[in-house]
Amino acid sequence: MVLRVYNTLTRQIEDFVPLNDKKVNMYVCGPTVYDHCHLGHARSYISFDMIRRYLVYRGYDVRYVSNITDVDDKIIARAKETGRDPFELSSRFTLSFIEDMDALNVLRPDVQPRVTEHIPEIIGTIQVLIGRGLAYPTSRGNVYYDLTRSLDRVGILSRQTVEGLLEGSGSRVEVEEDKRYRLDFVLWKSSSESEPGWDSPWGRGRPGWHIECSVMSMKYCAQQLDIHGGGADLIFPHHEAEILQSEGYTGLRPFSRYWLHNGFLTIDNEKMSKSLGNFFTIKKVLEEFPPEVIRFFILNTHYRSTINFSEQHLEEAGRAYERMANTISNIRYAIANAPGKGGDFGLLEEVGQARDSFIMSMDEDFNTREALANLFVFSRRVNAIISENSPDRAALEEVLAFLSEIDEVLGIFGKVLETHEEAAEGMSDGEVEAIIQQREEARKARDWARSDAIRDELKEKGIIVEDGKEGVRWKRS
Ligand code: AMP
Ligand code: ZN
Repeated sequence: MVLRVYNTLTRQIEDFVPLNDKKVNMYVCGPTVYDHCHLGHARSYISFDMIRRYLVYRGYDVRYVSNITDVDDKIIARAKETGRDPFELSSRFTLSFIEDMDALNVLRPDVQPRVTEHIPEIIGTIQVLIGRGLAYPTSRGNVYYDLTRSLDRVGILSRQTVEGLLEGSGSRVEVEEDKRYRLDFVLWKSSSESEPGWDSPWGRGRPGWHIECSVMSMKYCAQQLDIHGGGADLIFPHHEAEILQSEGYTGLRPFSRYWLHNGFLTIDNEKMSKSLGNFFTIKKVLEEFPPEVIRFFILNTHYRSTINFSEQHLEEAGRAYERMANTISNIRYAIANAPGKGGDFGLLEEVGQARDSFIMSMDEDFNTREALANLFVFSRRVNAIISENSPDRAALEEVLAFLSEIDEVLGIFGKVLETHEEAAEGMSDGEVEAIIQQREEARKARDWARSDAIRDELKEKGIIVEDGKEGVRWKRS
């Protein structure tokens, strides 16, 4: 089986072949930190987290870099509105973003570079572009990328034409009147005294938005990436600008072998976004829904499809998630009461098939939707086997081990599985049974006080003892 991914560059699903055998350099555009992040951001970063985790699962050595845009016009505007210092604002929301990602079990990037810490490298890259005749400074202290030098590359990702773009930009008032050509984009922007700025050969200014990703991906990944990711709204102009800048700088094509874009999370069929004001922050949603349910909700749709958000959809996801989590509890209960030997009653074959179908779905452009649907089928079969037979402990442990294995990719069962491990760490089944035997002896001797005391003691340790017609049963709470 071979991993296949949808490449925005070719608009096709292609075999995944990294530039260096098993090594994968992956760069994902990070947030602009001027507010708390919303569920649309969660969608993007959970999707790429899943993709990163699956690549690791398939044996790739992944380097994952994702930036923080901590100087930007939106940050400056918000700081002005609220009377705050722009650096204070961006520091605060950088921390808020990291906190949200941790809560959602999004693994931290190997490097999470901030723009403000890379100004000298950005200036150096712009100087090289100017030296190659690909960019030009203006008398107002701005620097632009000269698009007339790369007209054949316009639309490479977005499939737009120069004519279409010119038409589209025709009615817009041009703020940057010092551009030579209407489609040129800014690399360096002059700053007024009240705006954040750094000294440069072109005067005091700050980077344009696109240049940071070219610079930081080259610095921390490689001059040529295997995967570049982001939301579909970044395809144009941001990612096309990155391609021109990076390829202009290195002379190497392609800048990224694969371009992956997540679909939008919408609300009432409109993209959830800060600028539209139709957003629910991650923090707000976390007040009502556990992080694993939010993750499950997002992964239950293919990463390229649109997800329409509503509270009702999240509640439904919560119920579906609960069913899956219950299977884990059932297995744990069965393990507590399982015979040491006896047979697997088909469980091992089910696990083998479930693993194959998980890989098959995920290999086809990370189809988590199908993978989760298959997992439900697996879970129903496991429940049926457990309720009709008594598979031995080793077979049941194998099912849990498989769920832990795929949870390295999904990241949704951690808490339920941990509870199992904690319980197992507390007291072994053999120890529990030995204590229960002592209780049996106390009962035979009609020493009710001692029998009750043993039961209470076990309860404190999370072991529930039930006296039934067929003898004593116990389970972990
Ligand atoms: P921003 O902070 O707006 O630059 O966004 C950071 C990342 O989140 C980008 O990759 C965006 O494409 C992505 N993103 C923002 N809003 C949404 C949304 N509603 N659905 C999916 N991805 C989004
Ligand atoms: Zn970017």
